[in-house]
Amino acid sequence: MTEQTLYVVATPIGNLGDMVPRAVEILQTVDVIAAEDTRHSARLLDHFHITTPLVAYHDHTDERQVEALISRIKGGESMGLISDAGTPLVSDPGYRLVRRARQEGIRVVPVPGACAMIAALSASGLPSDRFSFEGFLPPKSGQRINRLQPLVSEERTLIFYEAPHRIQDCLTDMATIFGADREAVLAREITKTFETIRGGSLQELGEFVASDPNQRKGEMVVMVRGKPKPAQDQGLDAEAERIMTILLKDLSVKQASQLGAEITGLKKKALYQWALDQNN
Ligand code: SAM
Repeated sequence: MTEQTLYVVATPIGNLGDMVPRAVEILQTVDVIAAEDTRHSARLLDHFHITTPLVAYHDHTDERQVEALISRIKGGESMGLISDAGTPLVSDPGYRLVRRARQEGIRVVPVPGACAMIAALSASGLPSDRFSFEGFLPPKSGQRINRLQPLVSEERTLIFYEAPHRIQDCLTDMATIFGADREAVLAREITKTFETIRGGSLQELGEFVASDPNQRKGEMVVMVRGKPKPAQDQGLDAEAERIMTILLKDLSVKQASQLGAEITGLKKKALYQWALDQNN
């Protein structure tokens, strides 16, 4: 095992079969493992006959503790960093430790494995060429809406983590902000016995979750398709076309595109081009 190295090690998100052999080997041989919850991780380590000592690490731990861990590595130890499940730092502790380690010139080595958002996206059937991971939304509806509002025109697929007792309200707020028809996928209990990956409109998903209490249990990822792009050469979406058609009855192309842009939030240039195309 390389000395003075911090290994960022992913662990399973429910199915122990997803523990990668390299993760086991590294965790068996490092000098110490920094874990989000030592009691929780002890069970995982037990299963893989890993007897390496554990030390607690959380991003809220005070500065001295972070520095103590950094000193251990600089003193020659190798350290593994794990969280309760999945990839550390992804809605999990690790950021401060990794950042400090890199500032100190310590080698940081990723040991990739399970990650709920990537697993969910890979099976969602939603566009995966560009996406935005948004982590957890605030628990209260007002704050949640404030976080969702700026995402309304986002074209990339949006990925959220959500707690089971909030899923219903969350889907309701999403339907309000993104529109009830916006396509979405709910991925629940990935890699576990009751794994369910369900797609539909936000309204349909809300009804699905409301109709079955089991769908409000366990761990879940919500993915929302980005706003469809009004490709200039493919015309506008139906609503924008309707608005522009009305405006063009009484206004010049320039005026209609100006006003149309204000109403729809679309680019004036795209509306202008569309209006010109109608006359050709
Ligand atoms: N670091 C983890 C990762 O790599 O995915 C995420 C940790 S975060 C504290 C926990 C959240 O991840 C859960 O509330 C849920 O939204 C999501 N999650 C974790 N495991 C999951 C699973 N098996 N199925 C669906 N979502 C899961």
